[in-house]
Parts: sequence; structure tokens; C-alpha cells
Amino acid sequence: MKFRCKGCGYIADDNAPEVCPKCGAKKEMFEQLSEDAAILIDKSRCTNYIHMEIVSTLNAVIAQAQAGIEENLDPNCVKIFNYAIEQATILDQMIKAEIVGHISKSKWG
Ligand SMILES: [Zn+2]
Repeated sequence: MKFRCKGCGYIADDNAPEVCPKCGAKKEMFEQLSEDAAILIDKSRCTNYIHMEIVSTLNAVIAQAQAGIEENLDPNCVKIFNYAIEQATILDQMIKAEIVGHISKSKWG
């Protein structure tokens, strides 16, 4: 079961808290969400976590590629490292745009 604060959108798992941790609204301000909505929220949280993990990995790719460029062993290696930075940066921006979309639509909590 999940409960959403009608004041601020905070979502509590299991039980509605006596006071909303985010905005201070009382327990009566919490509404119980449907099972379908709760499942979507869990899926959304899982997906957002995956996005964050991928962003973290992309940042590691960019750092490694920059180190490879600094090594400057040969032009083909540098070309690959530059391509890795370019593609990792595009993916990073795509993920950020997707997350902003989720937040602005306030779709799934
Ligand atoms: Zn609240």
C-alpha cells in the first residue's frame, strides 16, 4: 500500500505517517493509492534508479576516455576515445531529459 500527501505529493510506503515529513500536513491529508498506481510508482522508482546507475557508468566512461586521450598512444585510439565521450554525453543528456520529463509530468511519483 502507498499513500500520497495531497499537500505536496510525498509518497509513503505501507502506512500514512502522522505528519508528512516533507510539508508537515496531518495524516488526514494522505490518500491511499490504488494497487495499480502503487505498482507504477515502484516501477518508476526502479527505472529512475537504473537511469542514475547508467549516468554514473557514463561518467566513468567519459573519465576513462579522457585519460585515454591524454595517453595519446595513436590516432585510432584517440578517435575511439573521442567517440566514446561523444556518445556517452548524448546518452547522458537523453537520460537527463527523460527524468526531467517524468518530474514535470509528475507521472508516477
Ligand atoms: Zn506533504
